Amino acid sequence: MQFNTYTVAGAHVAVWLVNNPVPRARDLTATLRGHDVHEPAATDANALALRPWAIRLREVFEAPAVPQKAGLADALLAAADCRPRLVSHGEGQPFHLHYAPVRTGLAPRVRALTAAGLAHVIDSGWGARLRTCDRPGCGTAFLDTSRNGRRHFCSVRCANQVNVATHRRRQRQHMAAEA
Ligand SMILES: [Zn+2]
Ligand SMILES: [Zn+2]
Repeated sequence: MQFNTYTVAGAHVAVWLVNNPVPRARDLTATLRGHDVHEPAATDANALALRPWAIRLREVFEAPAVPQKAGLADALLAAADCRPRLVSHGEGQPFHLHYAPVRTGLAPRVRALTAAGLAHVIDSGWGARLRTCDRPGCGTAFLDTSRNGRRHFCSVRCANQVNVATHRRRQRQHMAAEA
């Protein structure tokens, strides 16, 4: 699977939104622009309107297995009123999918885009790669784009913290056994 296509951009935006559930308008704009979203300029009202959506997106990442993730993502497609259209922004410009018309406004477009992105990842057989970090108390969502798909932590920092904790626990057990 190519994780950098525009189709998967929605999944990357979903990850960002889950991890930034109270975004500033300009950060939201920068993220959308970074994923080639058309007319990405967001207002504070747009950012505010997406808060409940970020909570629903998180449920997909936290769901324990693919069938639950798929059920939740399917419900998001319906809730976002996702209607894919093939669009070109001018003669000679490439055609690509829009999941809601530009005139519906930014928040509905982000809802449709993120629902479609997660659905596309699951459709491609990669649903198990929509995850949250295994470090207790972290909760950061990520799309595992690693080759073997066995990434457990959001960052090297979280992986190191858990490894150090595991190592200390083993050491304690070892010392207890020798005492
Ligand atoms: Zn476009
Ligand atoms: Zn983490």
